[in-house]
Amino acid sequence: MSSIEQNIQQITSQIEDIQQKCGRALGSVQLLAVSKTKPVEAILEAASAGQVAFGENYVQEGVDKVRYFADNHSELPLEWHFIGPIQSNKTRPVAESFSWVHTVDRDKIAKRLSDQRPEGMPPLQVLIQVNTSGESSKSGTSEEEVFQLAELISTLPNLTLRGLMSIPANVSDYESQCAAFEQLAELNQKLAAIYPQVDTLSMGMSGDMQAAIETGSTMVRIGTAIFGARDYSR
Ligand SMILES: *Cc1c(COP(=O)(O)O)cnc(C)c1O
Repeated sequence: MSSIEQNIQQITSQIEDIQQKCGRALGSVQLLAVSKTKPVEAILEAASAGQVAFGENYVQEGVDKVRYFADNHSELPLEWHFIGPIQSNKTRPVAESFSWVHTVDRDKIAKRLSDQRPEGMPPLQVLIQVNTSGESSKSGTSEEEVFQLAELISTLPNLTLRGLMSIPANVSDYESQCAAFEQLAELNQKLAAIYPQVDTLSMGMSGDMQAAIETGSTMVRIGTAIFGARDYSR
């Protein structure tokens, strides 16, 4: 077994342990394998361990990988999630290639994604990215803007709003990690009370997965702990 397969198994059982420990139903947290910068061979190894959902951050790299797997491994039921920042001139390839987008943070992006979603494909499943830390360097809507953006998305024919996503400030102490996640979880509950199809909370990465699951994450985005450290020099 490759180390990537071992990592997938280990994280899957870690997720189960945390779920059990905090009284959440088994299977209520999905693992999204973040494969940015990693070669298709690494994705194949993860797929042979049963991994289905993969997250990509960079438009061209992501589109190339989606195409590669459609052309060469159509037997694999892979599901592609776009989790990187989106510029408005890059919405078309995202709308044409991905099943999910986690980083919708303004009206213009939402409208373009809906307009550019090809006919015959299912609606794009979208999450609103929220800037919970209020850091101006981070993308994401403010909490106040979430409901306005959600209302717009609910009128767009080719998007389905599924919930919220955030990348909180990088803190290592558990209490602070939980505080940011709890804020997002509360906001998602308010959203779900208005839009019944909202069922997804994308939060938690390799360094804060436990806090995220304890506070209600339904999708953890794990890169390093599956694929190892990333090399950005290539
Ligand atoms: C890179 C990335 C991840 C994965 O981070 P790791 O620390 O490697 O697990 C998760 N979410 C987003 C949005 C990312 O860009």
